[in-house]
Amino acid sequence: VTALSMQTLRELAAFRTQRSPYAISLYVDLDPSETPTAVELDARIGSLLSKCSREVEEDEPAHEQRLALRRDLERIDRYFDEEFERNGARGLALFSSSADELWRVLRLGERVSDDARIERRLFLLPLVPLAHESGEYLVVVVGREQGQIWLLEDGKLELLDDRFQEQERRHDQGGWAQARYARHIESHVHEHLRDLAGALQRRLREHDLVSGLVIAASEETRPELERLLPPEVRRLPTGWIHVDAHAGASELKEATRPFLERRRRARVAEQVERWRTELGHGTRACVGWRQTVEAASDGRVEELVYEIGLQGTVWLCERCERISARPGRCPLDGTTTIEQRDGLELLVHRILERGGLVLPLLEESLRPEREKVGALLRY
Ligand SMILES: [Zn+2]
Repeated sequence: VTALSMQTLRELAAFRTQRSPYAISLYVDLDPSETPTAVELDARIGSLLSKCSREVEEDEPAHEQRLALRRDLERIDRYFDEEFERNGARGLALFSSSADELWRVLRLGERVSDDARIERRLFLLPLVPLAHESGEYLVVVVGREQGQIWLLEDGKLELLDDRFQEQERRHDQGGWAQARYARHIESHVHEHLRDLAGALQRRLREHDLVSGLVIAASEETRPELERLLPPEVRRLPTGWIHVDAHAGASELKEATRPFLERRRRARVAEQVERWRTELGHGTRACVGWRQTVEAASDGRVEELVYEIGLQGTVWLCERCERISARPGRCPLDGTTTIEQRDGLELLVHRILERGGLVLPLLEESLRPEREKVGALLRY
């Protein structure tokens, strides 16, 4: 499963076809309840793609463009026949334009609705709620003997440190000797945990961008480790998880997902709060479709907040790609703008391309303001 970062979204948003007017954006819901068999999956993808072909035919494309499109459709067919494996993915996004050498498959951890678009730019709206801001996390695996420190960055786990410390087994000797022997072992375990806490502190100083910690500790080591963690480690948002003693990198990564998802939600809530506060001051924030579109056109949007499912129309200048909330001529080059019903998609594109953040609201709404969209502004 691909970890999708805002950075990846920005790269995709910057793509435009150059040699052909067509790039395919395909979304497939892979949830087992929706897609029970390979045959049904094939049928659904087939009908999505033939919808695209029909749209293209209406444009009466040039011979070359028609050939390029056929190559794309064949490539996609081949991918699902020969390469595709579900392997835990719940959704799939695929972008293809053979004329412009674009081929990108994203296996997603969440479901997406079936959809296919064929346009100059890639259709990205369904991906936005799945994107995480890039961030570094340290993942620590702790047991009586285990002591691993991993770096988790953009979905990749890298082992930084393995401080495995073999401990003597507890023998059943009974009596006084047994009690003394147990204390002896516990002091070794204590040393091991202290050593690990120290290593963790050093790693944090090296990686000063780390924004959180995930600790997989066994029941018996957690209380002691908690006592040993230095204050600078304790200040970080920390998720405690359980993994099997022999868990590999992929199980470990899977186990961190709920924590990362909670972090993402907490971050969205913080940003919405910041946006509301700024609105109260009436300076670096706006609310409402028209104001937000105009702010985005001027490159002033730092963060967009919107309700999923929001509908809005914009007028697009095809020459410079400026968007406006009103019809008329582009103020920059005088070109007559064209009405676009998928205004939110264009708005999101524009903001991503200018390095802004985009925060769709999954559960809460912006209701106190009775608007479904707004932004924090750069100026
Ligand atoms: Zn223009």
